[in-house]
Amino acid sequence: MNKKYRLLFLSTPVGALGSGIGGGVELTLQNAAKALMAKGHEVEIVAPEGSVTNVTKLTPIAGNSQVSAQTQVGTDMVVLPQDSVLENMWSYAREVQDQFDLLFNFAYDWLPLYLTPFFHRPIAHWISMSSLSPVIDAMVSKTVKLCPQAIAVNTRACANTFSDGDRLMIMGKGIDVTQYNFVAKPEQPSLAWVGRISPEKGLEDAAETAQATGLPLRVFGLIQDQAYWQQIQTDFPKAEIHYEGFLSTHELQQKLGQSSALLMTPRWIEAFGNAAIEAFACGVPVISYRSGGLTEIVRHGKTGFLVDMGSVAGLIKAVSQLDQIDRLVCRQQLEAEYSLEVWGDRLEKWFEQLITNYKI
Ligand code: UDP
Repeated sequence: MNKKYRLLFLSTPVGALGSGIGGGVELTLQNAAKALMAKGHEVEIVAPEGSVTNVTKLTPIAGNSQVSAQTQVGTDMVVLPQDSVLENMWSYAREVQDQFDLLFNFAYDWLPLYLTPFFHRPIAHWISMSSLSPVIDAMVSKTVKLCPQAIAVNTRACANTFSDGDRLMIMGKGIDVTQYNFVAKPEQPSLAWVGRISPEKGLEDAAETAQATGLPLRVFGLIQDQAYWQQIQTDFPKAEIHYEGFLSTHELQQKLGQSSALLMTPRWIEAFGNAAIEAFACGVPVISYRSGGLTEIVRHGKTGFLVDMGSVAGLIKAVSQLDQIDRLVCRQQLEAEYSLEVWGDRLEKWFEQLITNYKI
């Protein structure tokens, strides 16, 4: 029988868990907790005040939100607000570390990486984004040299964006398949787009595709940039765009399942793209730009189509070929590659190595 671990998860400091500000990492953290709890481990979560989860015990921490990495592209300095929630979360972690076997960090930030060798418990890091800033990239390199195997990413494509990418663990991802209903045929043809509404996610290309094909486009997600969102309405007046809001996973999957395809049109190197596997779980094919982790998820011609980044003509052509895709194959790919069981085994092995090899 495997040893059962006590694990402390530290959430993203950019916003409350459940708010959507953290993007895919919010679901990733909760799914990782579920995957490890199903294997008998104990998990507690530390997250900014206002966070909610029904997965396990959560300790809220006060303080000012951290600046999101998306606004720090290319920046070569560390920014921390006064009374930073990130700083406060790690002060709390330092106080309680003895109650745990391992700490699991979900912040894409310099500070937790820097702190790794100062704690007397091993710290595992989940890096949910591709390399964006030289200062984080350099700290990733220093940390993996001091603490080998301490840092994981989702995909090889994401690892390759870091200067020491070959030292990073490639961990994939898992979702709770039981939370998603398979839909063999949607009632009406329509397109879906899921994500934070922010320029790096490229919603305008999906809007242009909707306008050109005449198909309605349902948009799900938090509006992070109101001016950008308004500009899209102005630029594509004939596109039938329905904004559905930021929905719970349960509501999202119900509506997403009714789509003919999910469009994923990121203008950055997408580290993974949670929305893609959530679409597969509902039987929805994914038409995506050939970007980062999405190239490892979408099987061209089988579970969707990969087109060149920025090619709206490619998106339109792919929409016209959707009848080539068997929706059941999408669900089957999800079950085979992204179940919580498979992911939980991988995470457990990783933690076992970190805990066993840890030297104070
Ligand atoms: N999401 C959600 N409700 C919505 C729209 C999106 O819960 O109405 C979640 C979605 O389930 C996914 C995340 O937002 O987990 C978006 O993650 P992704 O990795 O696709 O992009 P990121 O925002 O991390 O860049």
